[in-house]
Amino acid sequence: MKIDRIDVIRVLNPFRHPFETSFTRFVNRDALLIKIYSEGLAGWGECKSFYGPFYNPEDNGTVLHVLKDHIVPRILHTDVESPESFMQSVQMIRGNRLAKAAVENALWDLMVQRTGHSLKTLLGGTQNEIKVGVSLGMEGDINELLQEIDHYLSLGYHRTKLKIKPGADLSVLRAVRKEFPDITLTVDANSAYTLKDIDLFRAMDEFRLQYIEQPLGEEDIVDHAVLQKEIQTPVCLDESIVSYEAAEAAIRLGSCRVINIKSSRCGGLWEGRRIHDLCLKKGIPVWCGGMTELGIGRAQNISFASLPGFSGLAHDIAAADRYFERDITDPMVQITPRCTVEVPDDTGNIVYHADEKAIDSMAAGHWIWR
Ligand SMILES: [Mg+2]
Repeated sequence: MKIDRIDVIRVLNPFRHPFETSFTRFVNRDALLIKIYSEGLAGWGECKSFYGPFYNPEDNGTVLHVLKDHIVPRILHTDVESPESFMQSVQMIRGNRLAKAAVENALWDLMVQRTGHSLKTLLGGTQNEIKVGVSLGMEGDINELLQEIDHYLSLGYHRTKLKIKPGADLSVLRAVRKEFPDITLTVDANSAYTLKDIDLFRAMDEFRLQYIEQPLGEEDIVDHAVLQKEIQTPVCLDESIVSYEAAEAAIRLGSCRVINIKSSRCGGLWEGRRIHDLCLKKGIPVWCGGMTELGIGRAQNISFASLPGFSGLAHDIAAADRYFERDITDPMVQITPRCTVEVPDDTGNIVYHADEKAIDSMAAGHWIWR
């Protein structure tokens, strides 16, 4: 694929409900989109970084720098054979995987257009639809939380995930399990605990959770191995899985029994698929998490989650209108009445096109290299 021109477009898409985290308040999804022009076609990628380095070490500022000063000069006006060869050509750039993934994702989109095959086919996906779970914060009153869980269960969501933090964990779980003894329930600690809390996690075994997601720090792969040996509930690693090597180390050490693959954090779909293949071989169930992406990233997550290893567990891939009034694809990603998302395939029944009018209306910056 001869690379004729590369555009980066910054968009600001307001969240329907701005949300607070411990470090900031998110009002807009502030995202960088990559458009790569090649031989009359244009492929789109979405960078998953945020406006500041809060969830990932990279942010939109560092991504723009790495693209402009290091990636674009290496590939503009060259012939890139495949996403894999692109990844090899940027190997000397350490880390910066979100930046690499954005370009890599646009190359996959170009391959889809060149070959006429869906991303599912190109990746080797096997599923026609994938199961969707819901993820809920634990900020409010316990009765409100119980009502919220009831609401999503009535809609048919396949798994309920609760965000926990010190001070809002066991007591809430006890109340939820009392009301809903048999639902598929998980918790996500987003690294809020340390090994000193091991008794708390031992106590969670009685709640029969499907898994406990990222209880300890991102770099605590060894501590997670200690924890996993002490508890019956499977540990699921999310933040710790930043590369194939990290996944391999975690599996070898016994640090987890489930993995949440966010392919962009690992450098893109090609790298994500390698982790998927490793997990499939080692018998580790995987699922696909989200980073409040816009439609281009969301649609690629759906195709990625159609790989065979993703068939068991529910994914954090919501309908786009749960987060946004308007999105950047036409159509917007929707969920079925079965609480699944249908995977675009070669029949062309569903094709998510970049909605350039929507993108223009949200644009807050545009860089062009040709
Ligand atoms: Mg998580």
